[in-house]
Amino acid sequence: MTMPENKITVYNTLTRSNDLLVIPNGKINLFVCGQTVYDDAHLGHAKAYINYDIIVRWLRYSGYTVNYIQSITDVDDKIIKRSHERNMSPEELSNLYMQRLTEDMEKLGVTKNVDKYIKSHDYIDEIKLQIQLLIDKGYAYELEGDIYYDVAKFPDYTKLSGMKLDELEKHRIEPKPGKKHEYDFALWKAAKPGEPLWRITLNLNGKQKVFEGRPGWHIEDTAMTHAIFGDTYDIHGGARELIFPHHSNEIAQAEAAFGVKPFVRYWIHAGTLNVGKDKMSKSLHNFVTIRQALEKYDPETIRLMVARTQYTKDIDYKENMLEETASLLNFLRSSMSMLYNAAETNDDDSASELQEVTAFLEKEFTEAMNDNFNTPLALTKLHSAIEDFRKIAETNSALNGAAKNNAVSKVVALSSVIGIFEDGKYKRAIGSEERKLIEERDRLRKGKKYEEADMIRNQLLDKYSLKIEDSKYGTLWYYTN
Ligand SMILES: [Zn+2]
Repeated sequence: MTMPENKITVYNTLTRSNDLLVIPNGKINLFVCGQTVYDDAHLGHAKAYINYDIIVRWLRYSGYTVNYIQSITDVDDKIIKRSHERNMSPEELSNLYMQRLTEDMEKLGVTKNVDKYIKSHDYIDEIKLQIQLLIDKGYAYELEGDIYYDVAKFPDYTKLSGMKLDELEKHRIEPKPGKKHEYDFALWKAAKPGEPLWRITLNLNGKQKVFEGRPGWHIEDTAMTHAIFGDTYDIHGGARELIFPHHSNEIAQAEAAFGVKPFVRYWIHAGTLNVGKDKMSKSLHNFVTIRQALEKYDPETIRLMVARTQYTKDIDYKENMLEETASLLNFLRSSMSMLYNAAETNDDDSASELQEVTAFLEKEFTEAMNDNFNTPLALTKLHSAIEDFRKIAETNSALNGAAKNNAVSKVVALSSVIGIFEDGKYKRAIGSEERKLIEERDRLRKGKKYEEADMIRNQLLDKYSLKIEDSKYGTLWYYTN
């Protein structure tokens, strides 16, 4: 296997700069904080997981071996609360929504690229060991059956967030009287009545003591990644809002427990999907679930919508966004269909033109993706190459077979990183009857005979299931079944 060249730069939250990704053995261990499963996932979640999916696809396309692990939080306060409301056990509720999340993510083409989904409660032994290590090294203390991390003992606490320690006092993230400082966070929480609990035995000042409760959220991830990757690993991803406290706490736990700095070399954070000024969220009731979106739009439309914004940036979601993206995808598909289905010849007339566009696309798309996974720029390059291919197909009665096939396979390979053209819909050729009718309709529209033109449009839909759309990309057509 050839080693990938170091050409990719990533925006690293830890250094606040675009860093060259340097992976000495070509093998990347990557962890992304996953979902808390208490309800259906919405488009905000789709953005996050599609963002990381595209990153993983590009790393693999570039020759890296990526071990991609994602966590699932299957017990927490929200799950417990919702399960009581629904008269279910927390386990039943989280299993139900884990199943539904898996179905959604499968449809979006995400699950197939994750090597392993891990659930925190399969790692209670590792969590216990890590808490014990932190107690032994003087970083943790007990308070009424809870165990807290003593943040003042870890001077690097603010290195990821860049916040000031005294500012953190004001956040009151986990209020509890008796903590040494407001910003101390729970490694273990004693169970309240009616809550699911686990039992661990810890050694405190030479005495064994049994704790009944559940792990704090932050320790789950460092215990799991330590069990799988060891003391240190390459890339950690998650939503930007996790920088503080969640990822700051992960660093505090892992670097204190295992004494290795840095715990993770590259921290990459994704922007959110917002509606107006607010983040799309369950609590604000401003969400569209992935299931609702999939009733109207195909998965490739959702992926393309997400990829039109660079992962680090927020998406300002508007209601017409999916519809507008669907038009763009129809344009790309119908143009690709013209290229794919063009008649072939052995003569070289079109060869050099096709080769030139193909080579330029590959170079520009690669440069864009290597620059911190700049998907909107990569898509602009893809769009204009496909437009060029369409023009070449329209102006030649037949295309050089080898150059045409090379162009199609390059477009398909690059697009598979974004996750479009994977459903093969572009392969379907338009029938000759339908083509004649479309041309006839265009003539009628030019002559302003709109009523007759509309009749042809209806005829195409009723008889051939061919939908015609007049978009800013010109007249688009696609088969509805
Ligand atoms: Zn996490």
